[in-house]
Order: sequence, then structure tokens, then C-alpha cells
Amino acid sequence: MRQFEYTAATDIRGATQAISTKPGSAFIAGGTGLIDLMKLDVETPQQLVDINRLPFAEITENANHGLRIGAMARNSVVAWNPLVRERYPLLSESLLAGASAQLRNMATVGGNLMQRTRCTYFRDVHETCNKRSPGSGCAAAEGHHRTHAIFGTSEHCFATHPSDMCVALVCLSAVVEVQGPSGMRRIPIEDFHKLPHDTPQIETALARDEVITGIELPPPSGKSRSIYRKVRDRASYEFALVSAAVLIETSAGMIDDVRIAFGGVATKPWRSAPAEKVLKGARADEAAFRSAAEAAVNGALLHRDNKFKVELLKRTLMLALAEVTGEQR
Ligand code: SF4
Repeated sequence: MRQFEYTAATDIRGATQAISTKPGSAFIAGGTGLIDLMKLDVETPQQLVDINRLPFAEITENANHGLRIGAMARNSVVAWNPLVRERYPLLSESLLAGASAQLRNMATVGGNLMQRTRCTYFRDVHETCNKRSPGSGCAAAEGHHRTHAIFGTSEHCFATHPSDMCVALVCLSAVVEVQGPSGMRRIPIEDFHKLPHDTPQIETALARDEVITGIELPPPSGKSRSIYRKVRDRASYEFALVSAAVLIETSAGMIDDVRIAFGGVATKPWRSAPAEKVLKGARADEAAFRSAAEAAVNGALLHRDNKFKVELLKRTLMLALAEVTGEQR
């Protein structure tokens, strides 16, 4: 690891000032992603601005009965928070499906939003990678890409977004709250993560001198049920090959409303509007689930080794829908 300067910020102003006055600076909170990448020389900040002292760890109820979760709240604290477990079990489930207990104790909500891809070539500085070194090429295209994305890809990058939490947040219509020198901005989670296009190094809508201060969750509907299903190569401490988050409202066997998001298959947490469209207003039965699964994979762009994700995604979604609605497949 290379040498770097260390600055501990105690307020937002100090944090944004420290980051904007010195090029090559990076914020650090839990450090569970950044320190790994620094050890690999993938990240080489000249200064780390420690934001652990910023007062953004609280989980509070909003006036509209939604929830505000501070960006510095640890993943384990959020996952086990009674309000989260009662009103947003999807979020709790997704967090507990990610990483290990030790990592969840350190990792923050803000850091989880900023997680970087696990693409092997991104993490190896001896390989070509447009995300790490723009314009250098993409070693994954001809290399190992079994875990790579089938949606939201570009010719420049098709690495998957690794977060479980963000998949649930897309389903829950979360809003990301950020602050910078010119004030506060609220960014819908679906606009927060960027598609790679020809600039895969730009991963989020966050400006360099902005800090994530929290996420807001709209009030839950009392009628909704949810499920997070994650398929991976081993039972724990592994990233998703495919995951499906479903938030659904049914009455008398009919689907009144539904939101669906996928993880492990796209370059950003992936909302499936086509699958939602098929299901809204349909009877909650196997035929509808199958049609939704077919709609979900329409337009998938496949590479040599990740074709299996199409069938895996269809089966995962169908299983999740059957489980959450209590219908037999
Ligand atoms: Fe880099 Fe993306 Fe190619 Fe992986 S898929 S090597 S992250 S450009």
C-alpha cells in the first residue's frame, strides 16, 4: 500500500473542503471496500478524508411515516433495526444476504451505495480494464466472465454491480440524500448508479465534492409483502450470481401492484419494468409468473460464459413470486 495523508473531518463543510482542495482525495467510512482496493493498488488516494465522525448514523422516522437512514449507519445496525425489520423487511433481508457479519458491522450504508465491482480484471492492475484505466480495453470480454452482466452493458464494460442492499432500495423507491458545497440534493436511487456507456469509470451521480448523508424510504404500504432471493456459488459470504427483490400487493388472488429489481445480472441495480408490466392486474398464478420471467430476460445481452444467467434469473424470479404470493408454481 502506498503512503497517504489522513484527515479526520468533523463536519460536512470540513469534509467537502478537504476533498476539494487536494486532488486525489477519497472519503473513507467503514473502509471495507476502499482499503482492499488500496492494498491492490487499484485505488491510490493521496489523502483519505475520514467521515466517521460526521453525525449521520441515526435511523429516524419521517413526518410522513417513512424512514430516514443516516449514511454512516452500519449495515448490521440497519439490518437489525426494529423499524426496518417491521416495515422494510426486504431491506433487512438483502443486507443480511450480503458479506459476512464482521463486514456488516463495519460497512456503512453510504459505502454500500458506493461499492465497486468485483470483476477480477478491475481488481488486477496488470490487466486491461476500461473502468480502472479508461481506454485500456476490457480483459473480461475474452477472459473469465461467467459472473458478468447481461443487462445495462456496453462494449466498454459489462461488470456487475455487487450490492444486495441497492437492489432492495430500488424496489423500495429509496431516495439518496447528498450534500456538497452548494447544498443538499436528493437523487432517486434509480438515477444514482450510472450505466457504463463509454465512461465506465463514472459509476454514480455523486459529484467529487459531495458526501452521501442518508437515504429516505417512502412510507410502506400496509398491504405489501416482499422477498429477497439470492442465488450464489456458496451459501454465505459470496456475491450474487442472480438475485431478485419483489415488493407486491395482491387482493383476491390478483396482483394490484408490484416492483421488481434484480442483482448480479446488470451493471447497476436493475429494475425490471417489463416484468412488472406483465404482472400488474394479472392473476397471481404460474402462467403470469412465467410470462413475467420471459419478459424480464427479453433483451439480455449474452457473452460466452454467462448465458446460464438467463434461465437462472427466470427460475429465481418465478420462485420468489411463488413464495411471496403463496401460490404454487
Ligand atoms: Fe474492467 Fe468492466 Fe471489463 Fe471488468 S468488465 S475488465 S470492470 S472494463
